[in-house]
Amino acid sequence: MAAKKLYIKTYGCQMNVYDSQRMADTLAPLGYQEINSPDGADLILLNTCHIREKASEKVFSELGRLRQLQEAARAEGRRLLIGVAGCVAQAEGEEIVRRAPQVDLVVGPQTYHRLPDLVTRALQGEEARRLVDTEFPPESKFDFLPEESRSAGAAAFLSVQEGCDKFCSFCVVPYTRGAEVSRPVANILAEAERLVQGGALEITLLGQNVNAYHGEGPDGREWGLGRLLGRLAEIDGLERLRYTTSHPRDVDEELIAAHRDLDKLMPYLHLPVQSGSDRILAAMNRKHDSAFYLRVIEKLRAAQPELALSSDFIVGFPGESDQDFAATLRLVTEVGYAQAYSFKYSPRPGTPAATAADAVPEEVKSERLAMLQQLLGEQQYAFNRGAVGKRMPVLLERKAKRPGQLAGRSPWMQAVVVEAPQGLLGHLLEVEILEAHPNSLVGRLVGLPEEEMVAPRMRTTA
Ligand code: SAM
Ligand code: SF4
Repeated sequence: MAAKKLYIKTYGCQMNVYDSQRMADTLAPLGYQEINSPDGADLILLNTCHIREKASEKVFSELGRLRQLQEAARAEGRRLLIGVAGCVAQAEGEEIVRRAPQVDLVVGPQTYHRLPDLVTRALQGEEARRLVDTEFPPESKFDFLPEESRSAGAAAFLSVQEGCDKFCSFCVVPYTRGAEVSRPVANILAEAERLVQGGALEITLLGQNVNAYHGEGPDGREWGLGRLLGRLAEIDGLERLRYTTSHPRDVDEELIAAHRDLDKLMPYLHLPVQSGSDRILAAMNRKHDSAFYLRVIEKLRAAQPELALSSDFIVGFPGESDQDFAATLRLVTEVGYAQAYSFKYSPRPGTPAATAADAVPEEVKSERLAMLQQLLGEQQYAFNRGAVGKRMPVLLERKAKRPGQLAGRSPWMQAVVVEAPQGLLGHLLEVEILEAHPNSLVGRLVGLPEEEMVAPRMRTTA
């Protein structure tokens, strides 16, 4: 029998990218093979993001387009199932099938290990409103997910922690992803070993609040993220470790020491601050002020002087004055970021900030965002220019836009493009940086590839 075709469209964060891969793993035993486009699919899953209003709305416009595809399939005598997963699924639940009757099933981020059952029941004709599973189950999905069905590539993601107990007043994550949960160390190690066997040279540990990690260690005690990174760094063949996203309150001494001691831990940290104004940070319920954030950065830089920093910023949070925004610009100037993400505040239903009275007008938000992005862009470009003439290892993880070129990441997360044959995809190679652009670097391979490269495991054992 021909394999059934599965197309997953992923929105939002890296955790969703990881979840989508795991959703494909759960469906592989039912005969579903993943394809890269919705055409000809038997099952389409939208793995959605609810973090800002725009992200949520995209899902409903996509469902409109998929309805036509579903009707075309029906006209050909095929059945196309449509499922909605992820944080919009969690937040909207049954409302999705009411608003979009073409949807056959809805599954939240903590229940997707039950996808095979939902899909089977949908195929048997069960009504969509009975196939809405947005529970926060007592069991962990990780205990039920099958092993990975294919290689995750040279740069792989691994979820170690989920959910959030911080309740920043603007954020839906604690409601859509649930309470903080950490996977046991043994579980993570086994998955990391398999990823390395499958060709991964770099692993990024994921969590909504990854440095709040406190999983059970092999000694029965709770391990923090620093200790976990130390253990993972012992895996032969694993060359690079990263982790994201961190909260300033959870940067402990062990994690700082990991940045000092572990060569495999890349000198790059995404540490969101959101605002430079203490008044706004308090209103956001961030549980830290700007001085605390700056002290954490000072300690990290003392431990790893090469550390490059990134952050998230929200402009136009309710009540943000010109002075508050000026404090954000001052903080950015003081820290000096290698890159950063910035957003206009978007009120999210059900969060405390959504009912705040003193909303910032849209045009003021836009103006502030443009100013902040101008400053962050200048910093990023300056950081990139500082790389010109240097040599650095680059993990070539994907094809670049132009034929004959591959793209990868520097240790500091910069995108680097080089002329290279496709056979070098998945290799960690020495590159000399020739040019800097605002968002990327251009380099050339140095040394003889065969001798200087760290080859993917698959290839050396083949
Ligand atoms: N856990 C991380 C942290 O503590 O910063 C970030 C999680 S969230 C998925 C990613 C980013 O989305 C946040 O850092 C924040 O800047 C942004 N974000 C979250 N809620 C938002 C909202 N209501 N409006 C605009 N941006 C938002
Ligand atoms: Fe959201 Fe991050 Fe705050 Fe948690 S710590 S509520 S995920 S912004």
